[in-house]
Amino acid sequence: MTVAADLFALQETDIALDSALARLDETENQLGETEELTSARAWLEAATEFLRQLKSSQSDLEFEADEVRAKAGTVETKLYGGEITDSRELSDFDADLQSLKNNLRTREDALLASLEQTEDGEAAMARIQAALTDIEARWKAAQAHLQAEQADLKPEIERLRALREEQAAATDRAWLSLYDILRGRRDGFAVATVERSMCQGCRITLPRNIIQKARNPRELVQCVSCERILVFV
Ligand SMILES: [Zn+2]
Repeated sequence: MTVAADLFALQETDIALDSALARLDETENQLGETEELTSARAWLEAATEFLRQLKSSQSDLEFEADEVRAKAGTVETKLYGGEITDSRELSDFDADLQSLKNNLRTREDALLASLEQTEDGEAAMARIQAALTDIEARWKAAQAHLQAEQADLKPEIERLRALREEQAAATDRAWLSLYDILRGRRDGFAVATVERSMCQGCRITLPRNIIQKARNPRELVQCVSCERILVFV
């Protein structure tokens, strides 16, 4: 025959089972890539692309600067080679040379600025890479921890389920059905202990006759206020 203490033991199993299932659910949700990880990866990708574009525009600038430099060289050779003697022609060539030199300076300045940007970009990328390495290491450790926790939780859940089945099978049908109803209504707590004449479920002081009845473990007595099954432990 079931006694109130058996229902209390069943409740302990149910609480442990609920908590293990909730934790398993939490670990399921935490498995997989985190936002921190994916956003660090996206940052690294963006920095890599930025540097790629910068280097490509740098090689364009270098190529153009080489061309202008070569043109300036040709004009300079003509200007100072002594072949041209006409002063007007000389002045035209000189103007050409100045313009080419200005053009070259502009490109060289742009190239220098671009090189500085690359240097900053590479430093930023190294920082992002280091941060990503750190995030990945922490993430891997956390994932391994979650998997280990799951490996412990799964057999524990099986054990608790089997225990619950065993306890429920040994419980009087009517008591069990009342227990299940109250468990649903009272947030998982169908059984309350009595301490210092108080129901520990709702903290009211119980009438003397109720306490007397509840002292008999074979009696099913409910709290007059919260309806929980009362048990002395
Ligand atoms: Zn109560």
